[in-house]
Amino acid sequence: MTVQDLQTTGRNRRLMTFKSALMVFSCLIFTTFAFATNAAVVKSMRFWQSPESTRVVLDLSAEVEHSIKVLTNPYRVVIDIPASSVVVDLSELEIKSDLIKKVRQSTPVNPGDLRLVLDLTKESDPKSFSLKPYQDYGDRLVIDLFDKKKVAAKEELKAVPPKESKRDIVIAVDAGHGGEDPGALGPSGSHEKDIVLKLSKDLVDEINKEKGMKAILTRTGDYYLRHRKRTDIARNHRADLFVSVHADGFKNPKARGASVWILNTRGVKSEIARWMQLQEEKSELLGGVDSKIRLSHYDSSVRSVLLDLQMENSIAESMQIAQKVHKKMDKVAPKMHKPHVEENNLLVLKNPDIPSILVESGFISNPQEEKLLKSKKYRKKLAKAVKDGIKQYFKAKAPDGTLYASMYRQSIYRIQRGDNLSKVASRFDVSIKELKVANNLKSNTVRIGQKLIIPTAN
Ligand SMILES: [Zn+2]
Repeated sequence: MTVQDLQTTGRNRRLMTFKSALMVFSCLIFTTFAFATNAAVVKSMRFWQSPESTRVVLDLSAEVEHSIKVLTNPYRVVIDIPASSVVVDLSELEIKSDLIKKVRQSTPVNPGDLRLVLDLTKESDPKSFSLKPYQDYGDRLVIDLFDKKKVAAKEELKAVPPKESKRDIVIAVDAGHGGEDPGALGPSGSHEKDIVLKLSKDLVDEINKEKGMKAILTRTGDYYLRHRKRTDIARNHRADLFVSVHADGFKNPKARGASVWILNTRGVKSEIARWMQLQEEKSELLGGVDSKIRLSHYDSSVRSVLLDLQMENSIAESMQIAQKVHKKMDKVAPKMHKPHVEENNLLVLKNPDIPSILVESGFISNPQEEKLLKSKKYRKKLAKAVKDGIKQYFKAKAPDGTLYASMYRQSIYRIQRGDNLSKVASRFDVSIKELKVANNLKSNTVRIGQKLIIPTAN
């Protein structure tokens, strides 16, 4: 037992003493109250089971005060009702509940009071309230028991946005490094972690200006996130693309040029690529990830992912996106490191379910490039270029169900004899208004042979 444990125990004991004093006090109040009212009788008990809760209803002969508490080991709920009794045969109850095992009577603190115990099958949160007589019912006491696990699972589901018919394309923007891990250092003293966070925020702003696109940041401030956590955040937001943003340094300050990288699981050739791998490993060590976790994560992801066809698809998509981003960046960056997309075996890119690219905005170790990256104006230009590349890709390959799909995915239909606008609309499951907007139609009249653009959202 540690000192802290002892302190906690001491505190608990004090708390318990206070609680028992409070209980005795409240019992006194209840008793006083009970003397002032007629003793109540529990005439019957009913149970209602819902997917994540059980409702227990006590039918009473009169209005009562009550108190309720939860006990563990085993889980049980204790209901105290002053100056009352029960006429129900508790052993004969038909308990329809996956939370309640048994209902029994127990010895109350004050003789004459009623103590009922609900023996539970698992942990639950009780909520109780009284109901006044209504129609066929007399006074009732209601206890709702919520299954803690199921409620938590439901909350999780709620956190996931509902599948809308026209959702935004989600881009997860990941500013490399952070906290304990500064990343590369520029000759004038700037830290990669700060520059890439600024650039990432600029990229998020650019993306969020686009209708049908939404960007999120994995890291929002100066703290470290392990690589797997970064992609987990992207996954939780159901990202369509993961963009890691860096501005690495190299041992040679002359090295320069921006670059775009995708995953290559077959091994690495260039010196820069090997250098980047080293930096990634260093990041995790600096950032404070347990080395055992880091290595086992790496090993298992390499093994399971290599054989995965999904990974191959993800890499193919990543390549198409990276090529478009590379082309756009080439227009604003003074120099691209290579005339093509580069490949590397980086943990942060190893995502079989999300296409992933890594943008090296330049070499922070190069004095000219450091100066550029420190300029807000340049960062904005670069961020816009990256966004333009991403946008170009998704315009051509809009995922199903996105607003982009409805805006940019189109097919042509030729009007047949007997067609009218409403028939065409219902045939393609679009509204007449959408058809008119897509075709710039002023009226509902169409003629045979006329070609209509059909906006297809799904
Ligand atoms: Zn970096």
